[in-house]
Amino acid sequence: MAKVTIQNLFKTYPAEKGGDVTAVNDVSVEIQDGEFVVLAGPSGCGKSTTLRMIAGLETVSKGEIFIGDQRMNDIPAKDRDITMVFRNDGLYPHKSIYDNLAFGLKLRKFRRPEIKKRVLDAARVLAIEDFLSRKPAALSREQRQRAAIGRAIVRQPKVLLFDEPLSNFDAEIRAEMRTEIRKLHQRLPGAAIIYATRDPIEAMTIGDRIVVMNNGMVQQNDSPLTLYNEPLNVFVAGFLGNPPMSFLKGTLRQERDTLRFTEVGDGAVEARFRNEDRKAAAREFVGKPLLLGIRPEDIEIAQFSGEGEKSAAGFPAIIDAVEPMGAATNLYLQTGAHTLVCRSAGHLDHREAGHRLRFKIHPEKAHFFDPVSTLRIV
Ligand code: ADP
Ligand code: MG
Repeated sequence: MAKVTIQNLFKTYPAEKGGDVTAVNDVSVEIQDGEFVVLAGPSGCGKSTTLRMIAGLETVSKGEIFIGDQRMNDIPAKDRDITMVFRNDGLYPHKSIYDNLAFGLKLRKFRRPEIKKRVLDAARVLAIEDFLSRKPAALSREQRQRAAIGRAIVRQPKVLLFDEPLSNFDAEIRAEMRTEIRKLHQRLPGAAIIYATRDPIEAMTIGDRIVVMNNGMVQQNDSPLTLYNEPLNVFVAGFLGNPPMSFLKGTLRQERDTLRFTEVGDGAVEARFRNEDRKAAAREFVGKPLLLGIRPEDIEIAQFSGEGEKSAAGFPAIIDAVEPMGAATNLYLQTGAHTLVCRSAGHLDHREAGHRLRFKIHPEKAHFFDPVSTLRIV
């Protein structure tokens, strides 16, 4: 059994100027047998501190940690059956790669044939078989990180923790390695994986479930697509997605039966509520400020330059910058009061920068947030 249960976990550090820093603030998460969970959030949100408490490298200020039914709080790190992979490989520089992988097994008095079998298996999966007799210095950084992952998996731990293992690599290697870590998980039946990252793309693509953290607190805990489509608050909405969601301040007005969001400033962006359920949810905000959130893929070009202004639908915006991505084009727009990002299916190039075009948002795709609580309304 490798279910991990974290209940109301806190970590406070004494701050330099007196008082306390609450690095982890009432975190509760359950990770099932064999589940791959991502802890995601910006630098300083408490990911490493949470992992270190689970591993036993840091004391718990308050709360409980269980693996299966066993309370872990007072169990020494070496007896927890947990291994951890860090940003830096942490290999012993004077030992060969083989001995680095074998070391933990030797300490635990595994028999030599079993050690050999496990090391060779891991080396094959991680494509480092050819380097086993070399010292770490004779490997590339990527190969060393593969060896560090190998060292963590040969122990066949119940729980495997990753603390931003790919953050030292460039985008190409990160993309390749995250696919491999994903595949590796399929070969470790029953092992629970908790993987910390600040990279929203990595968070979306690598795990079964994402726990988004900010300021030591869990913001939302759900599947990647639920987080993307139904973010609970502005933080989660803005964290996932690349380019990120655009936010516009505005007010909600009622005219007879219609509810209309109007952007602050010159009010270029408008969105009318059509769906009755959405209307009902938004009604209490009539006359109050509201925040509209819209993803780049839910904004489109309504009218190209040169077309007549008369039939114009949508709102005008100036194109500040154009990013041709190949399959689509990211357009950075100015409405006067706000900056928005539009992902257009069209093939535009840098010559479009500086032009004023009309754009449409898909009102049913827009999210609305209470600017005070930051919670999503619809
Ligand atoms: P993350 O891994 O998400 O970047 P950390 O868990 O490392 O975040 O840090 C969370 C917060 O706790 C940060 O504000 C950090 O400055 C603080 N912190 C971490 N370790 C210590 C420590 N040993 N002493 C004091 N503050 C710490
Ligand atoms: Mg960290």
